[in-house]
Amino acid sequence: MYLKTGRVIKVSGPLVMAEGMEEANLFDVVRVGEQRLIGEIIEMRGDKASIQVYEETSGLGPGAPVVTTGAPLSVELGPGLIESMFDGIQRPLDAIERAAGDFISRGVEVPSLDREKRWHFTPTVNVGDEVETGDIIGVVQETSIIEHKIMIPYGVKGKILSIQEGDYTIIDKIGEIETNKGVLPLTMMQKWPVRKGRPYSRKLNPIEPMVTGQRVVDTLFPVTKGGVACVPGPFGSGKTVVQHQLAKWADAEMVVYIGCGERGNEMTDVLNEFPELKDPKTGEPLMKRTVLIANTSNMPVAAREASIYTGITIAEYFRDMGYSVALMADSTSRWAEALREMSGRLEEMPGEEGYPAYLGSRLADFYERAGKVICFGKDGRVGTITAIGAVSPPGGDLSEPVTQATLRIVKVFWGLDAQLAYRRHFPAINWLNSYSLYVDNTGEWMNENVAEDWSDLRLKAMALLQEEANLEEIVRLVGIDALSEEDRLKLEVAKSIREDYLQQNAFHDVDTYASLEKQYKMMKLVLKFGDEALRALKAGVYLKEILNMEIRDRIARAKYISEDNIGAIDEIFVELEKQIDDLISKGGIMND
Ligand code: ADP
Ligand code: MG
Repeated sequence: MYLKTGRVIKVSGPLVMAEGMEEANLFDVVRVGEQRLIGEIIEMRGDKASIQVYEETSGLGPGAPVVTTGAPLSVELGPGLIESMFDGIQRPLDAIERAAGDFISRGVEVPSLDREKRWHFTPTVNVGDEVETGDIIGVVQETSIIEHKIMIPYGVKGKILSIQEGDYTIIDKIGEIETNKGVLPLTMMQKWPVRKGRPYSRKLNPIEPMVTGQRVVDTLFPVTKGGVACVPGPFGSGKTVVQHQLAKWADAEMVVYIGCGERGNEMTDVLNEFPELKDPKTGEPLMKRTVLIANTSNMPVAAREASIYTGITIAEYFRDMGYSVALMADSTSRWAEALREMSGRLEEMPGEEGYPAYLGSRLADFYERAGKVICFGKDGRVGTITAIGAVSPPGGDLSEPVTQATLRIVKVFWGLDAQLAYRRHFPAINWLNSYSLYVDNTGEWMNENVAEDWSDLRLKAMALLQEEANLEEIVRLVGIDALSEEDRLKLEVAKSIREDYLQQNAFHDVDTYASLEKQYKMMKLVLKFGDEALRALKAGVYLKEILNMEIRDRIARAKYISEDNIGAIDEIFVELEKQIDDLISKGGIMND
């Protein structure tokens, strides 16, 4: 197909204006200049196109040729995705480095997925089978952990004419299908335009928790498989650690991690660290179930804008196979800044703090692509995407536009608090202002699957934390002497909830993860101390004596009891009752 060449008329950083583009369409990918820089048309007016260029535009000037590829920005989907690291427009970082040295040189053409590598394909359908969109026709054991399902692409329907087991590249023909448009070859790769959500049969209400092993998350502010959450917090408050912990521990089958242009060295850290991470469940490298999208700081701002779409499209593809996928974006603020910069260069009317008026709807479009769905395909399988976006509000000010727009969409808010981080209370999730709108549903699930009093214990813990805040206010006003012994005991129990339960060290071998069973036992123990202490107090024992009990130390260290030994927590229960009984009988004598 011959397409007319346009000409650059203006270059403004990553934004290029071109004329003579009447044959191109909005959202077409174009090649700009002699260097064939990759760009995307983000606005069309008559024959003039505004192009967001994903590579450095220095040296580019008026008159340079622009050609459209006639296709929208798309990703390649097929075996080879897992363990890959891509930039924001799905260029493989290692292949690019090999082709161009340390810096990604401009206009480099590297296919997203390896064209040479052979994968062992095993058909799961037979010749003569009728198949349609989403039907699984075969599998590839892509990594030791993940079986890649090969699916009939969108819009294709017909009868399998041939299909063979064997070792194929992603572009080899693995079979043929007879459709009403004729016979088509079947391959293991498909493409999808990133700005469009991949379709599914039906959306379901996400009610099952995504267990993360992080106590403050699972117990107080749970997220569901298919849920949406955000983690806002100032610099250094622990956003990245939270995201990494979830990548490692969440009970999702696949992880898509989008490192969205946080400070340059931080991205390099991700690129270095992720390949080192072990999957705790299998002992294999975590990368064996991870796709990494990284915008390093030497990449232009526009690539960041695209990266979250590239990431979520890949997540949707694995969801379509029936997997549970966890998607992290760190940080969506950097993405929003890219959006703001492009909007500014387009001279659009700025909204709040210079962000475009469509910031909220763009964010909603992104999070809307998460969820729990019945996938296309005859087997009616269910897949989920849980999306967790970090937000970096400047100065930690939650009233800024990106945080506010995000809070209007997501159902879980883990508010990281600079004060808590400063006091080294980690994860620094503020229990007073954070929330989860899934808690009713997950509570039922927990009651059925973990323990019937799970929700009661959670409520009790939340109430104590709230009471602590109220009592502290009174102490601030009139001093600790104004409090009764019972109130002082409440403060102690709340402190124990915070320090012995909510605080969790991501870098401690045992403490880094707590199963729901362990969380339940620990929570029950901390609250049990409160009940038992109250019993003693009422029997006339001095609070001071109760607080000096040796057992408290064991309660505090319960978090370090390993998963294969959690019965040891039950022993602390027994010992607690015994020590309280002893105090009461001793106290009884003293009081006589
Ligand atoms: P942010 O991404 O918000 O700038 P980081 O995630 O890089 O912050 O966290 C900053 C530091 O806080 C970490 O390097 C670590 O020392 C500490 N930290 C955060 N969360 C935890 C945790 N759960 N356990 C232990 N240390 C933590
Ligand atoms: Mg960070």
